Amino acid sequence: MAINDRTLILIKPDGIQRLLVGEVISSLEKKGLKIVGMKMIHVDKALAKEHYSHLVSKPFYPDLEKFITSYPVVAMVVEGKEAVDVVRLLCGPTNATKAEGGTIRGDFSNSTSRNIIHASDTEESAEKEIKRFFKSSELFDYKLVAQDFLYASDE
Ligand code: UDP
Ligand code: MG
Repeated sequence: MAINDRTLILIKPDGIQRLLVGEVISSLEKKGLKIVGMKMIHVDKALAKEHYSHLVSKPFYPDLEKFITSYPVVAMVVEGKEAVDVVRLLCGPTNATKAEGGTIRGDFSNSTSRNIIHASDTEESAEKEIKRFFKSSELFDYKLVAQDFLYASDE
């Protein structure tokens, strides 16, 4: 656990279509997470199958694949203390009906399948997912000048 833990985020097609890209980025930034990679991409069917390999046999997978490949997504990597767990908490649970107000899914969705955001669920999956979506040359290792105001030196 370090202040430079990284996690992968996708703002999914519903986030793009509902003009919520800024809201999502804003909630990540307000938490103090540092953006180290960001781009708009199209997820093709092969990438969808790889990314959602744990779900391909589920009855809802055809809808999920159609949805995630339908419009662009914004892919991001953010960095911060316990970034994986912190971002999952900011997202709220998969089923947004159960998501608390103040979370991204709680504030902007009431659905399990149109829930705005993807975020890695473990440090191991974050490592894999960051490599899946970003080349190392697309990730930026810069000094955040506000760092001393986000964390104490011994954190
Ligand atoms: N999903 C769905 N129906 C379901 C469960 C999941 O459409 O019953 C979709 C939804 O977009 C979800 C994604 O599949 O965000 C990945 O599911 P996972 O269980 O990994 O949830 P997440 O990690 O996104 O919270
Ligand atoms: Mg997941």
